[in-house]
Formats: sequence, structure tokens, C-alpha cells
Amino acid sequence: FYSFGQRKIVNIPDLPGYVTLKCDFHLHTVFSDGNVWPTVRVGEAYRDGLDAIAITDHIEYTPKKDFIPVDHNAAWKIAENTARDYNLILVHGAEITRSMPPGHFNALFIQDASLLEVDSVMDAFAAAIKQGAFLQWNHPGWKSQQPDGIPRMYEIHHRLLKNKWLHGIEFFNHTEYYPLVMTFCRQYNLAVIANSDMHGVISEEYKGHTNRPMTLVFAKARTHDALKEAMFAGRTLAYFNDMIAGKEEFAKPYFYQCISVGKPYYENEKSIFFEVSNNSDIPFYLVNGVPEAPQAINLAANSVTRVAVSKKVTSPLTYNVKNVITGEEEVLKIELKY
Ligand code: ZN
Repeated sequence: FYSFGQRKIVNIPDLPGYVTLKCDFHLHTVFSDGNVWPTVRVGEAYRDGLDAIAITDHIEYTPKKDFIPVDHNAAWKIAENTARDYNLILVHGAEITRSMPPGHFNALFIQDASLLEVDSVMDAFAAAIKQGAFLQWNHPGWKSQQPDGIPRMYEIHHRLLKNKWLHGIEFFNHTEYYPLVMTFCRQYNLAVIANSDMHGVISEEYKGHTNRPMTLVFAKARTHDALKEAMFAGRTLAYFNDMIAGKEEFAKPYFYQCISVGKPYYENEKSIFFEVSNNSDIPFYLVNGVPEAPQAINLAANSVTRVAVSKKVTSPLTYNVKNVITGEEEVLKIELKY
């Protein structure tokens, strides 16, 4: 028989009117400081159930240049046909790699990465924007650049915002995350993003995790151009380590697409019984129940949970979803209607 490396099904629902594209917009190869050939990134993404990736090698950091010639478009050129073979969307990208401020930025949806190799960082941004780039601020709280781990906006970031040149920020990078990014993204209406920033081999790095970090993008179709439109519109959620982060306008419908609450199937003198199904790979941890109701309910991934509610409960059955982050110190509020 004939068999391909098989693709995992990532069970994440669509939103009404949109398809959910699972994406990683931050990957390295041997063309900067990564350890793999570009086509390996395509195979990994395929097996991990992703829809789109961007290979974003550093423009300013090419430590393998004594062995591999510097060509900032090489990874994209090499991986392009493979991506087509695997039915994966490959986004042309590069990482503008500067000290803080401004830090590291991925330019996505570009045509020629070599034009980003210029002295002034503002000129590099301008060269990307001229190509229609989506500019993503990478790991703003990375401790090598921000020792206390707290992201900060400097004058240059405000200049980017003023020019409308900044479009998204990483909330998750590799295995860390920055709660303050939620404040920036809400305040300036930017896309909330999750990426692996992988240099080595994905399967070794994320062993023991349900999934690698991924940006969930709500696109009108599963195409490169629809993905780009959705990114600029900021229709994203960031997903990693059984956590979701993003704006409430997407997190809320997303939650209700994942779960369904059944009609009560039994009642006795004390309680009413019903079931809640979670049809997604993401568990939901409900906390802060109203008085007399269950105080916490864990809706395990791809599972049905029985709930018994006391007849003494008179108010709506509201909860905070502990692992769905909608603000720096805010989580999603939901109601179970049975
Ligand atoms: Zn990087």
C-alpha cells in the first residue's frame, strides 16, 4: 500500500460565516539560525494539522553564512512547491531583527525579503509596508531584550501605530506569553497572535503539549488572500497550552461554537440535571459560579459533562472561563442556558 505521513485532525470549530485557519507565522530554517531545511517546516505543519505557515528567517542574523549562501528569499522559493503538494498556505515572510527598541518584527505577505536589508529600521519597515506587509511585533516581553519580561511601547512603536504600520503582536511565543499584549491589542485594535518561533524540530519541542502554539484566523475562505484579509481585519485568537487569548468579540462566539448545552434530562426534588458537550480540543475551566450552583465546572476536551444544578438557583448560570483570556486581567464571561 501507499501511505503519506499522516495529518492530525485539530478539532477546532469554524465561526459562522468563516473558516478557522490554524497558522504559525514564525518559523526559522538553516537560512538564518534554524536547524532544518525549509521543506521540513511544511511537512511538520501538515502533520500538525495546520493550514498556513510563514517561514521568517532573520534578515540581520545569518550565522550559517560560511556554509549556506545568504538569500533572504531562499526558504520561500524552496518550500513553495512543497507547500502546494501538501495543500498548505505558505506566507512569504522575514524577521526584521533589531535590538529593543523596537525589537523583532515579522513582515508577512511580502514579495521580496532582500529589500528589507537596509541600515535604518524605519527604512526596513517602510520597505515591507511598500510590499503590502502585515507587520507583527514578536515576543515583546522576551527577557533577552526586556529583563523583567514586561512589554513596553517606546516612541518608535507609537510612530508605527500612527503610520498604521503595526498590525499584530505575539501573545504567545514559543512557550511563554505576555498578558499585557491583550491591553495593547485592545487599545490599538491589533491582531492577537500565537507562534512557535521554532528553530529546532517541532515534535521534540512540544512533546507533552496538546498542540504547538497556533494563531486561529477566521477567514472567509481557505486561501492565501482570504487569510491576508482576515489578518488585517484582526479576526484572530491565540491558542497554546489549553489556553485561548483574544478579543471578546471572537472569544465569545468561539466558546459557544465549541459547546452545546442539552435540555434537562432528569430532575428530583433538589436538582435539575443536564449535559454540556465540548466538541473541541480545548478544555474549558468554568469558575466563579453563582450562589448554590456548582462553583467550578471543567468541560474536558471532546467530552460530555453532566451538570446538576440546585433548584435554589434563581439567577442565570454565569461563569468565568479561566483559560479564555480576553484582557490583561480579564477572562471570558459566559452563561449556560439549559
Ligand atoms: Zn524569530
